[in-house]
Amino acid sequence: MAGHLHRCQALVLRHIDYGEADRIVSLLTAEQGLQKAFARAARKSRKRFGAMLEPFSQIIVHYRSGRGSLWSLQETELLDSRTGLRQDLQRLGLASYGVELVELLLEEAQPQPQIFQLLCSYLDFLAQGGDGEVARLLYELRLVYLLGYIPHFLHCSLCLKIFSDEAIRFDAARGGSLCLDCAGGSGAQIGLGTIGSLARTLNISPSRFSGFRFGRQTLEEGRTILSQVLAQVLPRPPKSLRFLP
Ligand SMILES: [Zn+2]
Repeated sequence: MAGHLHRCQALVLRHIDYGEADRIVSLLTAEQGLQKAFARAARKSRKRFGAMLEPFSQIIVHYRSGRGSLWSLQETELLDSRTGLRQDLQRLGLASYGVELVELLLEEAQPQPQIFQLLCSYLDFLAQGGDGEVARLLYELRLVYLLGYIPHFLHCSLCLKIFSDEAIRFDAARGGSLCLDCAGGSGAQIGLGTIGSLARTLNISPSRFSGFRFGRQTLEEGRTILSQVLAQVLPRPPKSLRFLP
C-alpha cells in the first residue's frame, strides 16, 4: 500500500530512464539527504513533471514513501531551473563535479542540512556567472570541512608546532601541514599565506560565495591541497573532472 503523502524541497542531482516511460530521479534534500524517487510515466506525461526533473533544478516534491527505499513522486513544483548553468561548458562541468562529489561522499538518507545549503549556494553562484575557480575552491574546502575531513592547517600535523613566517609543506596522507623537519621532503611546498587564507575562509558562512578575492598563488596551492585531501577520502576519482580545465 502507498504510504502517507509528504512534501519537501529538493535539488535534482540526475535522473535515469527506467522501463518504457518511467524515470528514477536522484535527489538531495536537507532533512533526508540523498534520496532516489520513482517518477511514473515521467517521459510520457510532460504536464505532470514537465522539465522539472532535469539536473540542478530546485523543486518542491510531493511524494509517498512506502516500505521500500524509493520515494514515489506524485507531483513537483519548480522553484528554479538554474538555466544559467547551461550557457557555459565550464559552469556545467563544475556543477556536475559538485553533484558528483556529494554522491560519492554522502551516505544515503542521512540528514544533511548544511551540505544541502552548500551545494545549492554553489550552483546558484555558478548559474549567476560567478568565478569558477573561486567557486570550486570554496566548495571543496567547505565540503571536506562539513564532512569532518579537514586537515591540520596552522600547525605541524606531527609535532604540533605553530607556524610563524616559515616555509612549510602539505601532505594530506600525513595529516596536513608539516614543518620542514617533520616533512623530510614529503608533500608539496605551500605558502603560509595560502594556509592562512583557507583557514580564515572557514569562519565565513558556507552559503556565501560572492565577495571573495584569492590571488593566483592561493588558487593554485589551494587546488593542490584540496586535490590531496579529496584523493584521501574519495572512493574513486570523479568522472566529471575530465571535463574541467
Ligand atoms: Zn613538525
